[in-house]
Amino acid sequence: MQTAFVGLGAMGSHMARNLHRAGLLAGVWNRTGAKARALADELRCRAYDSLAELAQICDAVVICVSADDDLRAVIDAMAPTLRRGTLVIDCSTVGAATARDLHARLGAAGVDFLDCPVSGGVEGARTAALAIMVGGDESAFGRAQPILQKMGRTIAYMGPSGAGQAAKATNQIMCAGIIQAVAEAMAFAKAEGLPLDRVIDTLGKGAGSSWYFVNRAPFMADNKFPAGFRVRLHAKDLRICRDMAARHGARLPVVESTLQEYALLIDQGFGDEDISSIFRLKSGLFPQNPPMGG
Ligand code: NAP
Repeated sequence: MQTAFVGLGAMGSHMARNLHRAGLLAGVWNRTGAKARALADELRCRAYDSLAELAQICDAVVICVSADDDLRAVIDAMAPTLRRGTLVIDCSTVGAATARDLHARLGAAGVDFLDCPVSGGVEGARTAALAIMVGGDESAFGRAQPILQKMGRTIAYMGPSGAGQAAKATNQIMCAGIIQAVAEAMAFAKAEGLPLDRVIDTLGKGAGSSWYFVNRAPFMADNKFPAGFRVRLHAKDLRICRDMAARHGARLPVVESTLQEYALLIDQGFGDEDISSIFRLKSGLFPQNPPMGG
C-alpha cells in the first residue's frame, strides 16, 4: 500500500521512519515544510508541498497532528482529492465526537476513516512499541493491520468509530492520576532526604510502580523535564476527557485537579516541558525542598 504520513512532530517523525523501514512510506507532509523536507532527505522519499496532491497518490494516509481543529484542517485540505477506497488512519488524540463526524463525512465519499490514537510516548513511537486503540469499521481495521503493526506492538479493536478515542481518554485519565501520585511521592522522598536513585530503583520493582514512576521519576530526581509528552498536550487531552465525562453528567476530580495544576505550569512558562514537570509544584508543597529554577 502506498502510504503517506501527515504530521511529523515528536511522535509522527518516528512513526513515519518505522513505516519507511517497512518499505511502506511513499511521501510525507508537514505544516512546517522544512521538517518534511528534512525527513524526506533522510529517508529519500518525497516531501509534498500540498495536501491535495499527497491525497491523490496514496492508498492510505496516517495522520498525527495536535488537536481536533488541526485534524479537521488536514482532512478539509485532503478530502476533495482522496480517492474512493483510501484508508485514513488518524493517530492524533482528539474527541470521540470529532472522530465520528469525520468517519461519517469521509464514509459518504467512500473513504474509510479509523480513529487510532496511540499510547507509549516518544519512546514507544521510536521503537514501534506503541499501544494503538482502534475505532471504526472492522473491515477497515483488517486493511489497516499491515500499517498499524509497523508502528505498534499492541493493536486493539475497541469498537465502532470513536471507540479508539474513548479508550485513549480512559488512558489519559489514568496518566493524570499516576503522574500526580508519582510527583507527590518523589517530592515527599526528597523532603525526607532519601537517596532518590535508590528509591527509584527499589520502588520501581514494588507494587506502587508504574511506567511513569520507572521512566519519569528520574526526570524529577534530576530536576530536568525534557520534552516528551508536553504539559499543554495532556491538558488538551484532559479537556477532551472533561467534555466526554460531562456528556454522562459526571465531573472527574482527578481530571479537574490536574487541569488546575497544568494551568499553573503553563502560566509559569512550563507548558512545553514533559508532564513530569508537575513535580515543580509538588516539590514546592514542602518548604524545606530547595526552590526549583525555570
Ligand atoms: P508535536 O510534536 O507538537 O507535533 C504536532 C504535529 O502536528 C506537528 O507536525 C505540527 O506541525 C502538526 N500540526 C499542528 N497543528 C496543525 C495544523 N493546524 N495543521 C497541520 N498540522 C498541524 O505533537 P506530538 O507529541 O507529536 O503529538 C501528536 C499527537 O499525538 C497529539 O494529538 C498528541 O496528543 C498525541 N500523542 C502524543 C504523545 C507524546 O508522548 N508526545 C503520546 C501519545 C499521543 P508543525 O511542525 O508545523 O508544528
